[in-house]
Amino acid sequence: MSHSRVCAVFGGTRGIGKAISERFLREGFKVAVLGRDPEAISKYQEKNVNEDRILALHCDVTSSTSVEDSVQSILVKYGHISVLVNCAGVNRDRLLLRTSMTDINEQINTNLTGTILTCQAVVRHMIQNKSGSIINIGSIVGLKGNQGQCVYSATKAGLVGFTKSLAKEVASRGITVNLIAPGFIETDMTATLSSHQLDTVIKRIPLKKLGQPQEVAEVAMYLAGASYITGQVLCVDGGLGISI
Ligand code: NDP
Repeated sequence: MSHSRVCAVFGGTRGIGKAISERFLREGFKVAVLGRDPEAISKYQEKNVNEDRILALHCDVTSSTSVEDSVQSILVKYGHISVLVNCAGVNRDRLLLRTSMTDINEQINTNLTGTILTCQAVVRHMIQNKSGSIINIGSIVGLKGNQGQCVYSATKAGLVGFTKSLAKEVASRGITVNLIAPGFIETDMTATLSSHQLDTVIKRIPLKKLGQPQEVAEVAMYLAGASYITGQVLCVDGGLGISI
């Protein structure tokens, strides 16, 4: 792959997004890492002292202004964006009857609206370039559902419809849009599970272990180069989806 390719990872500061950022850096991409955590952002900026291949920026995907500003900064710095990865996500796991309006809004605004906003901002530019690859991060629970995750699942199911529709809208412009649906991956998001919950989960996974962020990153790298795949959902879940 050409060394001038540029990948923007929204939600690249931790977990799966961080692993994806590092995987694309290893491949020779210039990588824009976007998130809210100032400490993580300054660590990336320090890493970049001797080379010009990382641009770490504050971005809150729930704000269209913040998204537009950061996309503009990437374009000013690198000139184009070849791959967009949407990894920013939050979960507020609770039974529906105990879910507050704040938690509902936070999950919808981050997971669903956030991805819609970044795609809107980046697709405009990819259309001019007549090429690009968009990779959205959904979840296996967006396909199968899960108790305690009604709203989270709804946002991830929403991303499936969004991904397929956008894939149809931009296919003629040489842009692919796909969705990765991870199962249980070892990150901060799953660190809150008790050992009892973990045991129960692992029993249900055919491969009998949690996934690693790097295993999702490999699939993102594959999709970034898969020029004849679009509108697809790829489960990276250790087989969980076939067992529930
Ligand atoms: P983490 O909690 O480790 O990381 C979440 C990332 O999202 C962080 O980089 C965080 O950055 C970013 N983020 C959250 N809110 C915002 C916001 N408003 N604006 C910008 N960035 C934001 O989670 P994972 O790495 O596990 O999750 C990554 C994605 O994968 C999520 O979409 C999640 O739903 C999905 N997923 C995860 C699974 C798992 O088992 N871990 C399973 C299935 C899907 P910062 O704190 O800097 O803002």
